[in-house]
Amino acid sequence: MVFVDAFGPRQLERFGSRLAYLGHRKQLEGVLGYTSGALPTVLTGAEPAVHGRMCLFSEHRPGEAHLLAPLRWMGLLPRVLHERRRFRALVERWLAFRHGLSGYVALHKVPPEHFRWLDLPEREDLFEAPAIGGAPTFLSRAREAGLSVYASPWRVAEPARWRGALETLGRSRPDLAFLYCAELDAILHREGNHGPSAEDAMDRIAARVASARERLADDGSELTTFVVGDHGMADIRSTIDPRPTLGALSALRVFVDSTMLRCWGASQDLARARSLIERRGWPGKWLDRDDLREAKAPTGDGRYGDALFLLDEGVMFAPSFLGGAAAGMHGYDLRAASCFAGLASDRPLPATCRALSDLAPLVTKSLGLTN
Ligand SMILES: [Zn+2]
Repeated sequence: MVFVDAFGPRQLERFGSRLAYLGHRKQLEGVLGYTSGALPTVLTGAEPAVHGRMCLFSEHRPGEAHLLAPLRWMGLLPRVLHERRRFRALVERWLAFRHGLSGYVALHKVPPEHFRWLDLPEREDLFEAPAIGGAPTFLSRAREAGLSVYASPWRVAEPARWRGALETLGRSRPDLAFLYCAELDAILHREGNHGPSAEDAMDRIAARVASARERLADDGSELTTFVVGDHGMADIRSTIDPRPTLGALSALRVFVDSTMLRCWGASQDLARARSLIERRGWPGKWLDRDDLREAKAPTGDGRYGDALFLLDEGVMFAPSFLGGAAAGMHGYDLRAASCFAGLASDRPLPATCRALSDLAPLVTKSLGLTN
């Protein structure tokens, strides 16, 4: 199984004959939020409402270790220093070391004063964790069943990660290989769908998947391949600067993600925020608790927000707490084209496989594990 970040149906189509050996293709319904929510759904088959992941940052819950609180002191430093990429990378490394975090730790451009109420829900390496929010991953189920499993070390840089994976697969031929590819997402964010680097990246990815397949099957072993994404990518056509509006929302806690403004607060303050945003004419829609529940988002304890404003596809907040403007972005409405994931396989795909959550049961079944 190969997980390619930002491998949506449109990107799959663009791979064209490069993935000719994977003739069975589908588009899968995605999840609300970002890779932080979609990848756990790929791995567990559970909806975000079950595994509890949606965005990189959540609201801290009393009683849980408060990792980020000390970082508010970064605010005493000049902004030009504490927002510098190298400085933040140092702090990220310290944070991961200090608390033994093996998950994805990235502080992006979050203003330091917000660290006193924010948390990082992903603390474990998702490829090694036995379960995510109580939902077991297919990787851990395969390990528990005594199968040999290889999972890419996601932290290793792309070329070295693939070199290592191909070497290991040739040597040990595991029952299940889970390979991870991040470069397409990075390129499409930077250049959009039609930049100069996407085609080369697709060549590289297709060649790597083909090599992995050769190594796994060169002893005549039976092989099943799935290449799946978590979402696609939309080209950005306009940006919205949220800063002039944030002052008027001071009664609320607000987190500005790339495509959503998440809010926590009393219902009358949320209602005021909604009407203020609607008066500003931002393109998008307000989602309250009921809307989020309907979208199968984690709403249980409101750690991702009591309500949020979700921008229309192709629009993003810049600057957001995640950074500046990008050429491509994802994280839109469930019906937006960029919210769907691509799936390609060398085996016929059952009609019941329609959503990202349908993939893990298919993988466990292919491995001969009962669901
Ligand atoms: Zn991305």
